[in-house]
Amino acid sequence: MNYNVDERGYYGDFGGAFIPEMLYPNVAELKENYLKITAEPEFKKEFDALLKSYVGRPTPLYFAKRLSEKYNTKIYLKREDLCHTGAHKVNNTIGQILLAKRLGKNRIIAETGAGQHGVATATVCALMGIECIVYMGALDIKRQAPNVARMKMLGAEVRPAMSGSRTLKDATNEAIRDWINNPVDTHYIIGSVVGPHPYPDMVARFQSVISEEIKTQLLELEGRDYPDHVIACVGGGSNAAGLYYHYLNDERVNIIAVEAAGKGIDTGESAATSVLGKEGIIHGSKTLLMQTPDGQITEPYSISAGLDYPGVGPMHAHLFRTKRAEFVSVPDQEAMDWGLTLSQMEGIIPAIETAHAFAALDVRKFKPNEVVVFNCSGRGDKDLETYIDYFKL
Ligand SMILES: *Cc1c(COP(=O)(O)O)cnc(C)c1O
Repeated sequence: MNYNVDERGYYGDFGGAFIPEMLYPNVAELKENYLKITAEPEFKKEFDALLKSYVGRPTPLYFAKRLSEKYNTKIYLKREDLCHTGAHKVNNTIGQILLAKRLGKNRIIAETGAGQHGVATATVCALMGIECIVYMGALDIKRQAPNVARMKMLGAEVRPAMSGSRTLKDATNEAIRDWINNPVDTHYIIGSVVGPHPYPDMVARFQSVISEEIKTQLLELEGRDYPDHVIACVGGGSNAAGLYYHYLNDERVNIIAVEAAGKGIDTGESAATSVLGKEGIIHGSKTLLMQTPDGQITEPYSISAGLDYPGVGPMHAHLFRTKRAEFVSVPDQEAMDWGLTLSQMEGIIPAIETAHAFAALDVRKFKPNEVVVFNCSGRGDKDLETYIDYFKL
């Protein structure tokens, strides 16, 4: 069994590039060049140098002593929350902007829901002095004011998507329309392991620095370069893909994926794609997605904006179908409680997305000598408002 992308751009039954004909040249240009360019020594040198001096990598692998004692196992946290801009997303945007420059692009577009990917994109555009346009649903612009302000401070133009539900999928449609109209000078930075091939593989490779570092760090800490379990939350699936990447084909490592159950799997207000999803096409790739019987995409729900997505990347759909990964879903309430628990047991205030991953400890038992690595994907600063409202702080 192969868990990496194949030559046709598929992970088993999932993936591919289902795109309008007018987008073919743009996607083909990427497909033909991304492996070649990212393998160049000069590219690697520049990528690594920026990850080190700008993002702050390698991020620590922290042994969580109090959590480990309570759950009677060895728990480590990969501290992506310490990355510049507060989450793992910047690993990918740095990679893509360097690629865009080498393809001769001088204009960047992106779409964003909660604004986290928009901020990570605006950040690297400022770093490179490249024009940046971020499409965002008009409703999301209202709901995510601090991130809109951040993008503007960073010099990006935030363009509202006024159609449909005025949320993420409408912003995506606008971004695609823009890319069709500007095929020569523009690169479209997608923020997770979603979209047409080669995006899922490209983003997974940029995020794979996470498990690459863990191998070195675990060797030093535990005398072996692999853990027994890796655990991450899955929205589109990019932080999870980075955590799993170098262990995908290593059967000694158990993979656990945590999705958002929102108000509960049976309530119609959730984002538990593996449980509720059926095969379909979203954002140009074939994957599992939540849809009505006649194939309309269902509006997802989660208290965490980053997990509020109706699909998963094709790699994760494949990991689910082949049972290579265990999928768990966690409701809002448990995730919120874990936000508080992690804060008070380890002094780390996590993003609400990240807090979902830790709730796996409530449903899954680990042995005393097992090594369990959680991806601490982001910090909770952005979620303070939600924490304040929820806990009446
Ligand atoms: C965006 C985000 C996620 C979800 O995105 P993935 O692509 O699934 O990783 C998870 N955690 C944090 C902190 C995020 O900002």
